[in-house]
Amino acid sequence: MSAAAGKRKVKNIMNREKLLLDMFSALHGELGSSNWWPADSAFEIMVGAVLTQNTNWKNVEKAIQNLKQRNLLAPQTLLDLPQDELAALIRPAGYYNVKAKRLRNLLLWFDDIASCSFSALDHMSLDELRAQLLTVNGIGQETADSILLYAFKRPSFVVDAYTRRIFNRHSLIEEDIMYEDLRDFFMDVLPHDVHLFNEFHAHIVRTAKKWCTKSKALCETCPLRSFLE
Ligand code: SF4
Repeated sequence: MSAAAGKRKVKNIMNREKLLLDMFSALHGELGSSNWWPADSAFEIMVGAVLTQNTNWKNVEKAIQNLKQRNLLAPQTLLDLPQDELAALIRPAGYYNVKAKRLRNLLLWFDDIASCSFSALDHMSLDELRAQLLTVNGIGQETADSILLYAFKRPSFVVDAYTRRIFNRHSLIEEDIMYEDLRDFFMDVLPHDVHLFNEFHAHIVRTAKKWCTKSKALCETCPLRSFLE
């Protein structure tokens, strides 16, 4: 899809920045800080971002715990682990053979580009680092943005099916908007602030689970009810 066609998936709003910041404030007032991502290290976040693909967080926690209990949650240690052993340990997260391969791809990339050091990539711009991450087989846009935002602390807005559902129900975007266009919907107007992006994504996920579920929208009690047309 062309960039122009993509933008047509976004409703023309006079002051989108104000609207989004007002929505954020309403969510933040109701939900408070989410303090994502729950992890002891940036590397744990990186691993969790792969494990959480197509599964719920409780399953990810079990897989992470398996690695932690064996003192394996370090880049070089995991790289030295045979892939089938890694797959067995992350089995609770589901799709464990695929995820073991993806994790290994990510670890090889991290070792190759930065000797597994987060600070070694400080010199790269957000766009450069994102482009690099997206070269890793198995790392898609949402996973890359999660790693950038929560592990690298870069201002990369994470969007997902929850974001699409809520903002479509508010008639602000089309349901079939492409990932990059939906990300631009936020990043084109909001201040590029890691804390804001961290909390905003967390609030969207929590809102979608609590009030704006796939089967029904509990608008009467939702903090975003005043933003409905
Ligand atoms: S539940 Fe209603 S008010 Fe809340 S986000 Fe969904 S559509 Fe908006």
